[in-house]
Amino acid sequence: DEKNWEKILAMINDVVTLFQSQARLYNIDLVVKSSEDREIYCDKTQIKQVLINLLKNAVEEMLDGGTIVVEVDYNDSLCIVSIIDEGPGIPEHIIHKLKEPFFTTKKDGTGLGLMISNKIVENHQGKIDIVRNKKKGSTFRITIPIAPS
Ligand code: ADP
Ligand code: MG
Repeated sequence: DEKNWEKILAMINDVVTLFQSQARLYNIDLVVKSSEDREIYCDKTQIKQVLINLLKNAVEEMLDGGTIVVEVDYNDSLCIVSIIDEGPGIPEHIIHKLKEPFFTTKKDGTGLGLMISNKIVENHQGKIDIVRNKKKGSTFRITIPIAPS
């Protein structure tokens, strides 16, 4: 693999920029919230692919507009990136299937985005947690070590 020290906010902003025109079309606000910018040790191409997959899913759930927040936090040795949407949310009974290959609820879905994202993050000794929001929508939370072990 090709791991280096990469600025987390640069990766996020690159990916958010890719979705900006599509988001505007659907009246979706893309908001990045971060207290500080740090570098994490990662494969930039792969982590950007994860961010693309998760943001694409969020946008695809919010065709009536709303806000998608990408929030960056740090705790001890970990970087936590949360993609928080205001879509219809995930039915309880399918939540455990989302990372399975070919599981999709979309007419033209591949069901591969979350499986691949999960593999990439696990290859970085991290994990993706899927949370049903209290009020509305879902949160996909990437937790990844800041430094190599
Ligand atoms: P695809 O997008 O091709 O369906 P994914 O692996 O990216 O494949 O996602 C699998 C399934 O997980 C989706 O079909 C959808 O049912 C569910 N899902 C993913 N992201 C979200 C989200 N933000 N909100 C609600 N459901 C989601
Ligand atoms: Mg997808």
